[in-house]
Amino acid sequence: MGLRIDSPYHHCQGSWYRGNLHTHTTESDGDFSPREVIQKYSDQGYNWLCLTDHDKITPPPSPLPNGILVFSGNEITNRGPHILHIGASELIEPKADRKLVLEDIHKKQGFCILNHPNWEKTFSHWPQDTIESLPKTFQGLEIFNGVVQRQEGNPQATDRWDMLLSKGYRVWGYANDDFHGIEDMTRGWNMVCAKDCTIDEIIGGLREGRFYCSTGVSLSTLEVNEHTIRIIATNGSLCVASGDWGIELGRFAGRAWELDIAELAQDRRPGYIRFEILGDMGMKAWTQPLFLRWD
Ligand SMILES: [Zn+2]
Ligand SMILES: [Zn+2]
Repeated sequence: MGLRIDSPYHHCQGSWYRGNLHTHTTESDGDFSPREVIQKYSDQGYNWLCLTDHDKITPPPSPLPNGILVFSGNEITNRGPHILHIGASELIEPKADRKLVLEDIHKKQGFCILNHPNWEKTFSHWPQDTIESLPKTFQGLEIFNGVVQRQEGNPQATDRWDMLLSKGYRVWGYANDDFHGIEDMTRGWNMVCAKDCTIDEIIGGLREGRFYCSTGVSLSTLEVNEHTIRIIATNGSLCVASGDWGIELGRFAGRAWELDIAELAQDRRPGYIRFEILGDMGMKAWTQPLFLRWD
């Protein structure tokens, strides 16, 4: 039985850079000016930040404080469920038919993710059938959104992620503050593995899955070699592996793990495996999925 693992971490070289992809300023409905927001994230030790006002591109002010990398995005908001357009240089018209919006982004070589799928009293800002009717050109979805922690719905959306992954979608999970005010800050972030903290490296890593998400658990090692994954957490205490349709494949106490992927898969032959590392106070880290092919 041959197993081939397609892992975004195979090409992981360099350092881990922390950032938030979803940030509002006074240019839309945020409490702070772009300069103030950037300073706040810089003070927290963030390496990069994406400004994403509602249906508006907010250019980074210059000069930037303390060398933090800042780039522009746009939260496509009006007339439908929200889409984060990353690295936006041109505004995309918020057409009610989100299929057309995704086509427009794709034509402009942009990359986008679907925001807070389980927001609102319906727990379904993005109904699953709407997601599955879209062209498969989105890069992923927010599996954690900080604002939904204080609003209706579920801030996590790993249920939607598992449904898509189980149907063969290759989509990444992202964790974002959705910063509007100070209470949203440092709730969820992305750690990108990159050679250096430049726009190409950070956006490339976010696009290709060379990152993990966190609400407080940090990983000092995340490596996939041949048929094993090595994870060392600085502050986690439980690693949970799951596969197709959310089926749990194993849970392992401790702080450092070297797990054999074929052993975890056993005879289930899942199409993907992903890992969650749990820590104190409900804090988590989520790896991206490893895609498995069985010959
Ligand atoms: Zn939104
Ligand atoms: Zn937002």
